[in-house]
Amino acid sequence: MTGPDRRAELAQRLAAVRARIAAACAAAGRRPDDVALLAVTKTVPASDVVLLLDLGLTAFGENRVQEAGAKAAEVAAARPGARWHLVGGLQRNKARAAERWADRVESVDSVRLADALDAAVRRRLDTGDRERPLSVLVQYSVDGDPDRGGVPAADLLPLAEHVASCAGLQLDGLMAVAPLGADPDRAFADVAAAAGRLRAAFPQARTLSAGMSGDLEVAIGHGSDVVRVGTALVGERPLISR
Ligand SMILES: *Cc1c(COP(=O)(O)O)cnc(C)c1O
Repeated sequence: MTGPDRRAELAQRLAAVRARIAAACAAAGRRPDDVALLAVTKTVPASDVVLLLDLGLTAFGENRVQEAGAKAAEVAAARPGARWHLVGGLQRNKARAAERWADRVESVDSVRLADALDAAVRRRLDTGDRERPLSVLVQYSVDGDPDRGGVPAADLLPLAEHVASCAGLQLDGLMAVAPLGADPDRAFADVAAAAGRLRAAFPQARTLSAGMSGDLEVAIGHGSDVVRVGTALVGERPLISR
């Protein structure tokens, strides 16, 4: 679907998501503009991103480097102003490509990946092709499952220490996904505690990115600053493995 029908559908979904965020903020005694909305647009076409920009969103999340780079270029040709966050697993050999379109990488979960991003950024800082370090969040794993990305609790501060020492990277906070099937309240309490430890050691690492379509209220209740919302905004994605 494109054109006015799709625009109306996205506008309606966006209003519903904003209402959920506002209600969760009210319940938590927080202000609605304390929580940023990252629209996760993986698998949706650039035309949807353009419609969402026109509806006032500015930050978009993608999880595949190639898809995102092409989409970012297509969107930029139509409208200025989109910012892109990589929220999915990143292979080191894609770090150079990711650094070109990503304004933030939320999924840094190893020293080796941090080093690859840092090297790619510093190369372009040195040649004057970029002006600033790359904003990154370290991805924290609640259950330590290596398949789902994220560092386990024991490795969080050592990784943060390493990222903070990289001249090409700016450590801005923590990202987490609640494990499938976990009690979200317990999971996000654990995430909030990890974010608190991170902030205590690195005061600049203020951002907590937590909560998706199914659990954003719980995450906001535990202090999330950024909710990453796909399905509730754009509808069901095709069921393909990624
Ligand atoms: C896909 C994805 C989201 C959005 O999930 P929805 O349930 O569709 O809202 C958020 N965060 C990450 C890391 C994702 O991969």
